[in-house]
Amino acid sequence: MNENDITVNLASTSKIDSVDFENLIFGTVFTDHMLICDYKQGVWEKPVIKPYEPFLIDPSAKVFHYGQAIFEGMKAYKDEHDDVWLFRPDQNFERFNKSAVRLAMPEVPESVFMDGLKKLLQIEKAWVKTGKGNSLYIRPFMIATGPGVVAAPANFYRFMIILSPAKSYYSGEVKVIIAEHYSRAANGGIGAAKAAGNYSAQFYPTKLANEMGYQQIIWTDDATHTKLEEAGTMNVFFRINDTLYTAPTSERILDGVTRKSLIDMAKREGINVEVRSVLVDELIQAAEDGSLKEIFGAGTAAVVNPIVGFSYKEKYYELPKLENPIALQLKEKLNNIQYKLAEDTFGWTVKV
Ligand SMILES: *Cc1c(COP(=O)(O)O)cnc(C)c1O
Repeated sequence: MNENDITVNLASTSKIDSVDFENLIFGTVFTDHMLICDYKQGVWEKPVIKPYEPFLIDPSAKVFHYGQAIFEGMKAYKDEHDDVWLFRPDQNFERFNKSAVRLAMPEVPESVFMDGLKKLLQIEKAWVKTGKGNSLYIRPFMIATGPGVVAAPANFYRFMIILSPAKSYYSGEVKVIIAEHYSRAANGGIGAAKAAGNYSAQFYPTKLANEMGYQQIIWTDDATHTKLEEAGTMNVFFRINDTLYTAPTSERILDGVTRKSLIDMAKREGINVEVRSVLVDELIQAAEDGSLKEIFGAGTAAVVNPIVGFSYKEKYYELPKLENPIALQLKEKLNNIQYKLAEDTFGWTVKV
């Protein structure tokens, strides 16, 4: 199958002129079209691109009762020649199907995911604005649409892609609290999958953290709460002296595309990177002796999210304010590759 095998029903009008691209709230505005591809009893049907609109679904669909739902988060960028680019989309495609396998859902063919995405982006090209900071956030997802409240995997699924214009935002000062009780993921669980349920599991402890004045939680390993694992829904890096540390990916840690790209870029810059677990005790020690310089989250939405301080056992530790933090240097370098402002020597960017 190629993109000619996609049925296209164009919207009669576009809502693009009613959108204020300067004041976008992340994830609230969607483009004119969406892609839908249904899976019925072992067969993927022909994908359809059609106007963005709500759809009907049986109240007994398994997604509502047993949480068979997975997603991806990617971005499209426009360069100065009006060409649209994706960043390492193969990684998102592979990860999506790993998530599908873990949730006993069917794998999506590359022709549906990739050709479908490219075709949709060609149609929605005007929604990708030029200029650093502007991007089109891409949300591929799959839900179990098969009806019946029997607790077993469904026979019917729906894969979709929706698109939302985004502007880089300043998230304000991010203070975090280190998890001592709650967990995001456990050994043998679904923490390494981009599953909807991993997010709902975080909402309540994150709400408690918000009420205490912290924006995010740094998750620790569920068994001992001694190893630092992720920051909210991002991977996390620690800079102690001039070395960057980040935990190895595992069953509990999502294999982030930003994380691995930052590791490769930092190494090429000659920055010392160690992929190993950092212990809470080490972090406290480093904060106390002044060797802890930076903590930052890494993920597609913000690239890096610098953290200004953290709390552990009711004590707050503030990080130094640096002139030229590594987090922002790496963010700038990665953005330059994504927006085609610097040569992509890694071969990460893919033209739509
Ligand atoms: C999506 C996600 C990340 C970041 O992954 P990217 O591919 O860099 O966007 C990190 N941790 C969790 C839990 C995630 O869901």
